[in-house]
Amino acid sequence: MTARLLVTGARVLTPGGEWPRGWIAVEGRRIAAMGQGKPPPGTGAGSDVLAADGLVAMPGFIDLHAHGAVGVDVLDADPDGLARMARFFAGHGVTAWLPATMTATGPDTERALEAVRAAAGPVDGGATILGAYLEGPYLNPARAGAQDAALIRAADPAEAARLLDLGVARVLVLAPEVEQNRWLIAEAAARGVTVSAGHTDATYDQALQAVEDGVRHVTHAFNAMRPLGHREPGMLGAALVTPELRCELVADNVHVHPAAMRLLVEAKGTDGVVLVSDAVRATGLEEGAYTVGDQPAFHMDGAIRLADGTLAGSVLTLDRALHNLQAATGRPLAELWPAASRNAAQAIGVDDRKGSLEPGKDADLVLLDPSLRVVVTVAEGAVVHGADRLLRRPAPAGRAPPD
Ligand SMILES: [Zn+2]
Repeated sequence: MTARLLVTGARVLTPGGEWPRGWIAVEGRRIAAMGQGKPPPGTGAGSDVLAADGLVAMPGFIDLHAHGAVGVDVLDADPDGLARMARFFAGHGVTAWLPATMTATGPDTERALEAVRAAAGPVDGGATILGAYLEGPYLNPARAGAQDAALIRAADPAEAARLLDLGVARVLVLAPEVEQNRWLIAEAAARGVTVSAGHTDATYDQALQAVEDGVRHVTHAFNAMRPLGHREPGMLGAALVTPELRCELVADNVHVHPAAMRLLVEAKGTDGVVLVSDAVRATGLEEGAYTVGDQPAFHMDGAIRLADGTLAGSVLTLDRALHNLQAATGRPLAELWPAASRNAAQAIGVDDRKGSLEPGKDADLVLLDPSLRVVVTVAEGAVVHGADRLLRRPAPAGRAPPD
């Protein structure tokens, strides 16, 4: 049976602009048709209907960088735990995501990647798992942040090959200024893995060299890199002025001041910023004591920190990130939506099927109320959050219901 869904009455954000009122017809896992105003008579006969009057429809959020949530950490290497994370994220508008590792031993990282491979693809009631985000271990200990500095190491060809041979990594984060890491940039890029600079102490010149070597992405811009200096702009300065680099942003108002978020959007444009959660195990749970990696951490006041105050990832969700980005920039959603979806899809080369609302693309969409609270999430044609909003419309008289 071909699942059919008809969304009506929504304000729709499309690559061609904003439709004040439009409809989206879903067949199977894809968007079959969409248009402005009311659907033509007969559209979606026998479909389930989502009456979305007063709601805005935009592409489902894509989170490239999420370490954990609801008590699960990607390094637990538990496919069922990844599915629980996927369901939690769907409740916050995410339709596709990359489970993220952090710096760990080779065997621990391999086990985590094997679990991601086992869980990859659509998740029943959750957001699709597109692969893995490998954060470390080839970072710069001078900018370790909450990564375990004792386990940060230079890229070892045999170990790196084992990790990449699993075929599940979509993004590899490394410190490109570390001479022994440079060979891996071209190697990973040749395998179709997006190479990101992160936990890096690169100077501006080293950052430009990194772009030449093949780096195209910057992990949580502003965080775990040298601050912007007017005589030594560093990786951050290079990221702000280099169009080849897309910049992740952890928009929780803790990692980055709203004015700095605004600076990033002014410099990069709304197509150059990728909202990520960088969420950890405590996300979606109460305040209190947790661990991040093997280190004790405390979740309080919308942040999670190690004992010395170092931020240890976030407890952010992408719906909140979009809300914060809008508040920081004052820009309309019609401009900002790519930062929550399309830019991430482009960063990992899945924008041919994900990241925008267009006929033929995957039916990944989120319906938000005017305060940007998630009402319904649809991932690959399946309603994965807010199914109580569905109206089951009877089939036209005289016809058997479709099955
Ligand atoms: Zn991270």
